Amino acid sequence: MNPGRGIKFIDFHTHNATGNDDTVTVMNLMAGDEVPADFHHNTLFSAGIHPWQLTDDNLAHLQTELLLTVAHPHVAVVGEAGFDGLKGGPREVQYEAFIFQAEMAAEMDKPMLIHCVKGWEELRRAHREVRPGRPWVIHGFRGNGILAASLADEGFWLSLGKGGLKPEVLKAVSHERILLETDDSGEHISEVYRLFASTAGFDGEAAERLMRSNFNSLLGYRL
Ligand SMILES: [Zn+2]
Repeated sequence: MNPGRGIKFIDFHTHNATGNDDTVTVMNLMAGDEVPADFHHNTLFSAGIHPWQLTDDNLAHLQTELLLTVAHPHVAVVGEAGFDGLKGGPREVQYEAFIFQAEMAAEMDKPMLIHCVKGWEELRRAHREVRPGRPWVIHGFRGNGILAASLADEGFWLSLGKGGLKPEVLKAVSHERILLETDDSGEHISEVYRLFASTAGFDGEAAERLMRSNFNSLLGYRL
C-alpha cells in the first residue's frame, strides 16, 4: 500500500468512494461490507463493527465478517467502533464489541476510529482498560472546548468535519492531534481544510503540511 506523491488533502473519514490523485481518502466499511474490487490507489479503508449494527445476538457473526475484511492490505484503521447511547445494540453488547475491536487493533498495531454519542464514560473506561499503543481518533467530534481538552489530555485524537471546527476546540487541543473529514456530507475535503485554516489562523499550505504530518505520525506513512 503506497499512496502516491503530491498529496494535498487527507479525508480521514468518508462513506463516499472518491478517487483523486491529490487526496488520500480513508473510506469506511462496516463489518460485512467487502473491500470494493476496484478503488483508486490513494484509497485506504477503515473497517469496524459500528454500534448501530449490533443486536442482541449478532456479535459473533459480525466478528467473523470483520476478521475477513481487516486482513486486506488497504485496511489501515479499525472502526468505526464505539458507543451510541441513542441507537444500536444493548450497552453491554456495544462494550463487548468495542473491546474485541480494540484488542484486534492493538494486535495489528493499528489506530482506531471512534464513533461516540452519549458514551463518553464507556469510551474512557475502555481506554483505561486497553491502554492502546496507537491513538484512538474520535470522528465527527462536535463537543465543546472543555470536553475536547479533557479527551486530548487522556490521549485521544479528534477527526473534525465542518460542524466540529469551532475556535474553542482548536484552542483546547494540540493541532498535532487533529485530522479532517467529510463523513457522509458529500462536500469536498478542500472546503473542510479551508475552514480549518481560517479558524486556526493558518494559510492553506501550512494546513496541508500539518495534516500530512499528523497522518504520517498516526500511520507511519511518508506523504
Ligand atoms: Zn461516518
